[in-house]
Amino acid sequence: MLSCCATALEDVIIEYQASAASSRIPEYTARVVKMEKLTHDVMRVLLKLPEGQTIAFKAGQYVNIILDDGQRRAFSFANPPHEPEFVELQIRLMTGGKFTTHVFEKMKEGDEVRFEGPIGDFSLRESERPIVLNPSARSSSSPAPPASRRSRAWSKTPSSAASSARSTSTGASGP
Ligand SMILES: Cc1cc2nc3c(=O)[nH]c(=O)nc-3n(C[C@H](O)[C@H](O)[C@H](O)COP(=O)(O)OP(=O)(O)OC[C@H]3O[C@@H](n4cnc5c(N)ncnc54)[C@H](O)[C@@H]3O)c2cc1C
Repeated sequence: MLSCCATALEDVIIEYQASAASSRIPEYTARVVKMEKLTHDVMRVLLKLPEGQTIAFKAGQYVNIILDDGQRRAFSFANPPHEPEFVELQIRLMTGGKFTTHVFEKMKEGDEVRFEGPIGDFSLRESERPIVLNPSARSSSSPAPPASRRSRAWSKTPSSAASSARSTSTGASGP
């Protein structure tokens, strides 16, 4: 199930295999250094790790933001792996959502954010074959620019991207 774009229409019970979860995911505290509204409901949040710290990740992986009460919220890396001192998130506002509402209404540059990661086995594999990104199909929360930046960062993989038809009310632009 793509939980980043699925919407439950009624109460659901979700089972997961605890054994599949990694037991030791590194934890970080980073600072919000830039916030930018990409569309009316997508906020770009750039986090910087403390001086000298980096996070090694692959395109396609994600982090869990750790809320004050310990709850976790998953967000994908929107920056390419060759910028390991930063974590860029593109956060879509969920109506009534605890964390995303906080991002849009209270979060500001200078705030600290705790997160754990990187998480996820699904990542872009290096290949000679071209990839075509079609974000107009709206298959994930992140808009086109980070996805194409990711693939450009993957040395040899050529890519092309169609432009997104969604959420253009404030004129979405690439970072
Ligand atoms: C691997 C992964 C990667 C993801 N990457 C991204 C990303 O890059 N960008 C992005 O924007 N999102 C991403 N998501 C989705 C993101 O994790 C969620 O949108 C986010 O967790 C919502 O957090 P929240 O605290 O704002 O909402 P929550 O407080 O968790 O609520 C979410 C929604 O559920 C509703 N809700 C809450 N409790 C209930 C209830 N008891 N009954 C009915 N409805 C309820 C809320 O009103 C709200 O609409 C990703 C998800 C996964 C799993």
